[in-house]
Amino acid sequence: MIPNNEILAGLIEGSPYPIFLILGDDLIVAVANAATLKAWGKDKSVVGKSFSEALPELKDQPFESLLRQVMATGEPYYAVNDRADFLIDGQIKVSYFTFSYQPLKDANGHIIGVVCYATDVTGLVESAEKIKELGEQALLMNAQLASNNRKLEAFNEELATINEELTESNHLLELSEARFKNLILQAPFAICVISANNLIVTAVNARYLELVGKKREQLDGASIWAGVPEAAELYAPIMQEVIRSGIAYSAKEAKVTLIRNGRPEQVFIDFTYEPVFDVSGNVSAVMVVGIDVSEKVNARKAIEEVEERIRLAVEAADIGTYEYRFSTDDFVASERFSEIIGLKSGLTRKDLVDQYHPEDKKLSDQALAEAKTTGRILYEARLLHQGGMVKWVRFQAKVYFDENGQPERTLGTAIDITQHKALQQQKDDFISIASHELKTPITSLKASLQLITKLKEHPNQAVFPKLLDQATRSMNKISELVDDLLNVSKMNQGQIELKKSRFKVADMLERAFSHIGETSKYSLVLEGDLQESAFADEHRIEQVVVNLVNNAIKYAPESHSIFMSIKNEGEAIKITVRDTGPGIPPDKIPQLFDRYYRADASGKQISGLGLGLYISAEIVERHGGQIGVDSVLGAGSSFWFTLPMLS
Ligand code: ADP
Repeated sequence: MIPNNEILAGLIEGSPYPIFLILGDDLIVAVANAATLKAWGKDKSVVGKSFSEALPELKDQPFESLLRQVMATGEPYYAVNDRADFLIDGQIKVSYFTFSYQPLKDANGHIIGVVCYATDVTGLVESAEKIKELGEQALLMNAQLASNNRKLEAFNEELATINEELTESNHLLELSEARFKNLILQAPFAICVISANNLIVTAVNARYLELVGKKREQLDGASIWAGVPEAAELYAPIMQEVIRSGIAYSAKEAKVTLIRNGRPEQVFIDFTYEPVFDVSGNVSAVMVVGIDVSEKVNARKAIEEVEERIRLAVEAADIGTYEYRFSTDDFVASERFSEIIGLKSGLTRKDLVDQYHPEDKKLSDQALAEAKTTGRILYEARLLHQGGMVKWVRFQAKVYFDENGQPERTLGTAIDITQHKALQQQKDDFISIASHELKTPITSLKASLQLITKLKEHPNQAVFPKLLDQATRSMNKISELVDDLLNVSKMNQGQIELKKSRFKVADMLERAFSHIGETSKYSLVLEGDLQESAFADEHRIEQVVVNLVNNAIKYAPESHSIFMSIKNEGEAIKITVRDTGPGIPPDKIPQLFDRYYRADASGKQISGLGLGLYISAEIVERHGGQIGVDSVLGAGSSFWFTLPMLS
C-alpha cells in the first residue's frame, strides 16, 4: 500500500532531523517540521511566509542565495557543519548544521521548490571546537614547552660559560692575589694586611716587620694586636672604626713607642689604615701602609732646637742680625738691628751708612772691601741717633762667596756697645784719676822722705816731727786709696765677709768722727736715740760713716758742724750725716752711688775716685739696709742709711 499524504506528512513532522520545503520563486516556507521550527526557534506561523520573512536574521547569511542557486541550477547543495545564526527568544544563537538542499521537481521535471534535510550538529561542532581549542592549547603548551626547553638549554649553555669564566676568573684572582702579595712584599714602604673579621694578619712585608721590630713568625697568621701589643691601646679603636665606617684613617708623624727587638723605642710614623672592600661593599680587610719618618722628624727637631737656641742666645745677648746681598744691594735686618741702628725696619745699606758718625762713615766701606778677601767683618763704629745721641755699635759678619769666588752675601750681627764703651771710658778715666790721686800723696811722701834723708846728718828737732807727720799723713792717704781700690775689687768678686756684733751706735759715730783727725776745725753735733745699739759689722759701718763725714768735709768745707743723728724706726735704725754745704742737683742724685761717679757740682777740682759712696752703698745693702740722700741745692745734704733692727 502506498502511504497517503497524511502519513507522509506525519513522517516528516515526526522526524528528529529538521526537514523543510521551500516553494516557488518567492521562496515560501511550505513545510517546516517540529525539529526545523525548534532549530529556527520559531513557531508554526512561519509556514506560508517567505523564507526572508520567516527568518529575517538570515538576511546577511548565504542561505537564501543558496536556495535560489539550487532553484535555478537544479544542482543540490551539500554543507557540512555550516554555521547559521538564528534569532531565538530575542537573542542570536549560533548553531551548526550538516544539511543538503535538494531541488524538488514536478511531474514535468520543472523545479518548483527546494527540500532541506538537516542535522543539528551544534553540539558536535562545539565539542569539536572545544577539542580543537584544547588541541590548540596543547599545541601552544607544547610550543611553550619547546621554547622553555630551548631556554633551558640556552641557560645551561650560559651556565657552562659562566662556569668556565668563573674558573678563568678564579685563576685570574689567584694570579692577582699572587701579584698583590708580591706587590706588598716588594713595596718600598711597610705594608700589613689585616682581616677585618678576626684581625688576623694575612699579608705582611719585611719593611713592616722591620718597622715594628718583630719577626715574621710573630705576625704572620697572628692577631695584629697580639703581634704588636704596645700599639693596641691607641690604635685598636682606630682600626675598629675604619672597619666599621669604611673610611680610611691617616696620621702624620705619629709618635709611637714600639718594642723593637725587645727594646722600647720611640719612633715617628706616617701611616694609613686603608679599608679593603669585598664585592658586596663590606670591609673585608684593613691595609696598613706606613713609613718610618723618625730620622726626618728627629733631624728637623734638632734643627728647630738649634734655631731656638740661637734665637734665645741672640735675644739674650740683645744682638741685631742682618743679611746683605751684594748683587741686589738688598738689606734684610731684624727689628733689633734697626733699633740699634736707630732706624725703622725696611732700611737700605745707604740708610745705614747715612747713620754713621761723619768720622766713621768710611769704616763700613773699608770693612766691606776687606771682607771680600778675608771673608770676615769686624769693626766698631759710632752712629748718630735722633737728637744727635751717639751710639757705639760693634758689627761682626761673615761673607759667603758664590762658586766663582765672588762675594754673594753677608750674614752678620750688630751689638750696641755704648754702655760698654762708656764703662771702658770710665775705667780709663778712673785709672788716670787713681794715678793722679796716688801721685799727690806719693809726691808729698817722697818730698818728706827726701827732706828727712837730707836732715839725717843735721837733725832739726823742730822740722823733723813735722816731716814725719806729713809723711805719715801721705802714707795714710795712700793706704786709704789702696784700701778703697782693694775694697772695690773684693766687692766685685763678692768677697766681702761681714763680721757682725752688737755695738752702741753713738760710740761708733764718735769714733768715726775722731778718725778724720780734723776735730779741731769741725765739731760733731750728735742727736737722736743715742742709747740704741746695732747688730752689724762695726768696722765696715764705721767705714761708711767715715766716708760720709769725709765727703761732708770735702764738698761742704764751709759748714763747720757735722750733724749726725740716730733714729729708731722700729724695724730699722736710721743714721744720718748732714752738712750745710752747697747740696746736690736732683738730676745727679740717682747716679751718686754708682761706681766711679763724680758729680762735681761745685765745678772745683776736688780730688776723689768716685768710689766712696759706691763702697758705702754696697756695705749697707749687704746688711739688708738702704742708703740715700735728701738734698736741697744751696741748703746742704743729708746722707742717710738704715740697718735692720735684728734681735
Ligand atoms: P769721691 O768723693 O771720691 O768723688 P764719692 O763716691 O764719695 O766719690 O762721691 C761721689 C760724688 O758725690 C762726689 O764726687 C760728689 O760730687 C758728690 N758728693 C758726695 N758727698 C757730697 C756732699 N756731702 N755734698 C755734695 N756733693 C757730694
